[in-house]
Amino acid sequence: MKINSKLPNVGTTVFTTMSHLATQYNSVNLGQGFPDFDMSQDLAELVAKAMKDGLNQYAPMAGLPVLLERLSEKVLDLYQVEVNPITDITITPGGTYAIYTALTTVLEPGDEVIVFEPAYDSYIPNIEINGAVPVLIPLEFPGYSIPWDIVKSKINEKTKMIMINSPHNPTGSVITYADIEQLREIVKGTNIFILSDEVYEHLIFDGLQHQSILRFPDLLERAFVCFSFGKTFHSTGWKIGYCISSPSLMKEFRKVHQFNCFSVHTPSQVGLAGYLLNKDSYINLGSFVQKKRDYFEQLMTATIFKPLPSYGSYFQCYSYEGVSELSDKDLAVILTKEYGVTPIPVSAFYQAGTDNKVIRFCFCKKEETLDKAVEKLVRYKG
Ligand code: GLN
Repeated sequence: MKINSKLPNVGTTVFTTMSHLATQYNSVNLGQGFPDFDMSQDLAELVAKAMKDGLNQYAPMAGLPVLLERLSEKVLDLYQVEVNPITDITITPGGTYAIYTALTTVLEPGDEVIVFEPAYDSYIPNIEINGAVPVLIPLEFPGYSIPWDIVKSKINEKTKMIMINSPHNPTGSVITYADIEQLREIVKGTNIFILSDEVYEHLIFDGLQHQSILRFPDLLERAFVCFSFGKTFHSTGWKIGYCISSPSLMKEFRKVHQFNCFSVHTPSQVGLAGYLLNKDSYINLGSFVQKKRDYFEQLMTATIFKPLPSYGSYFQCYSYEGVSELSDKDLAVILTKEYGVTPIPVSAFYQAGTDNKVIRFCFCKKEETLDKAVEKLVRYKG
């Protein structure tokens, strides 16, 4: 059988490839972003109880009403905005699925989508599979801020959407209020949609405030805002997230969602609804993860790698400029095979493979894991 590939230029994701290599060489995996410590046993027990209590049949298509209610309360508390639990929120099997569904909901062949690079690796294939065209704009290196003048120059009648991501994967940069004002000015009076990937909303450091699109009603009316329980509750393997939008957009989003996944694992939704009653479960997450960033950064001073600032997410990028002529991809492989630590090469997040000699490490690990990794990394001298 011959198949006409819908994604002819796509291989296996860098996360799968590097995690596979890490297993093969038994290296410390600071590549793919996931915690290596246990999630809350209370949450696990709430889910187990729901299963044992017989709550094992389909949840409603948009999500379990009690969970939608809790999320609406959480959003009001955090961002001072009222989102209607019945019309504005949909529970999804993961944040990535929420992003894919939002793109599929609005994109038509030939539409242009503004994407900033480095870009999380699912964005561009998600755009292309819908027949739309990614318009790539590099974030300004090394601060990874958005060059708004360039954004303005790329807007035309085909521009359907702008994708933003804060805290940012892979760089850990965050969007400021000044960015929001620029975005506002650009989309005002247009039909441009916004996709805001906010899966790391609680993982923000140094006292910074997360500039969620939810805070800005004029932007929310044209936005799909995507979140992840996996990142918030150290349970990335659960693959549960949600999308918040305005009622008319969410109505269309659900048309796509209902014929793809229909609904999400019921006992997990019951457990999450119960667990969200305790605000401490997410309020202190930023400072908890910041300690890990600081711990790792301190250890890394003994290596040749130079940190780029990380203000949020699971990740910090490190430069080896001037130390080695190796490409970041080759270095990531050598560090895995010969030094026993796996990073992610940041060029993997650029379509053209732009190599600034930067690799990404996931620091959301047990201290002993970080100790072990850095003990190995100090041996690398270029
Ligand atoms: N979000 C994770 C990361 O950036 C990867 C998730 C995945 O492997 N699809 O590392």
